[in-house]
Amino acid sequence: MSSTHSQSPTQTKEDIKRSMLVDLRSDTVTRPSVAMRRAMMEAEVGDDVYGEDPTVNRLEQRAAEIFEREAALFFPTGTMANQAALKVHTHHGQEVICEERAHIWNYEMAMIAQFSGCIPRPIPAESGIIHWEQIRRKIAPGIYYRAQTGLVSLENTHNMAGGAVTPTAVIDEICEGAHKAGIPVHLDGARIFNAATALGQPVAEITHHVDSVMFCLSKGLGAPVGSMLVGSREFIKRAHVVRKCLGGGMRQAGVLAAAGLIALEHGPSRLHEDHANAKFVADRLAKVRGIKLDAAHVQTNILVFDISGTGMTTAEFSQRLAEKSVLANGINPELMRFVTHLDVDRAACEHAVRVIEEICA
Ligand SMILES: *Cc1c(COP(=O)(O)O)cnc(C)c1O
Repeated sequence: MSSTHSQSPTQTKEDIKRSMLVDLRSDTVTRPSVAMRRAMMEAEVGDDVYGEDPTVNRLEQRAAEIFEREAALFFPTGTMANQAALKVHTHHGQEVICEERAHIWNYEMAMIAQFSGCIPRPIPAESGIIHWEQIRRKIAPGIYYRAQTGLVSLENTHNMAGGAVTPTAVIDEICEGAHKAGIPVHLDGARIFNAATALGQPVAEITHHVDSVMFCLSKGLGAPVGSMLVGSREFIKRAHVVRKCLGGGMRQAGVLAAAGLIALEHGPSRLHEDHANAKFVADRLAKVRGIKLDAAHVQTNILVFDISGTGMTTAEFSQRLAEKSVLANGINPELMRFVTHLDVDRAACEHAVRVIEEICA
């Protein structure tokens, strides 16, 4: 039912069983393609702690080029890259302004506090998009008895806000205001290529004014492992030290970077298919009794929808879906999240929709 592109020639029973599932839990579940596995096998490697892995070096150089920045650094995870960026940008005892449902605050183990010694200063935004005017009011006045604002952190696309895309003009205005106030801006761009696809603009253009960007190779772009941090040479030099502090100094990481290079070069060009599939599912689900969903808000590969009208909790709903080979999770008792990706094709999406129509009939 799902596409067969990621099936390896040595398919196990487990692989076949998994390929029958429609897995909409996350775009992190994508498995490496045959081309990636081959590139991993053939990767030229060296010890990256000595800076001697040519494949890692190539990946970092390509990421820097694509984002039109001085430097980039390969991380095992997006969480580590985000938290390294936060550490470099801030000092203990400062505040980090972010949207209330931001990943850096809600899903990264309180590392803002644990590692950087900062606290979040959240701004709630139903749409997931915060504007300069809201941020300006949350910046601490420059008085010695107030904790100072160390950083503004944005998220594009916004995961928990249903893959919402922040317009580039909004980001640019935030950067202009924050920089005038002497405050750096970090972008959690786990899905920045989805944002770029939706906006029809290159990633370099939509991230031009932020001080640092994290993006994931391991999600819609299809790599098995890895995220990148990009920024100035000086920033990346400091992030390199922090990565080592966190135990992120990897050795022959070229085997991972080889898959990452394919993800980076070829992954972005097919993301529009995931967006079209998400839109297809949204349009159909919007008509199902008990489901509340504004299909017009679905811009990328994530849909968040309210199922409270069905009389089920999301745990019950997920269980009913799983019985029909559709995997998805709730983000709370009322809201379900679906994420489309390269391992679910249109037929798989049709199956998921039919299952929900049955369950809710
Ligand atoms: C996935 C994700 C990350 C990073 O997650 P890892 O699992 O640590 O790679 C960061 N921010 C957002 C918005 C994400 O969706």
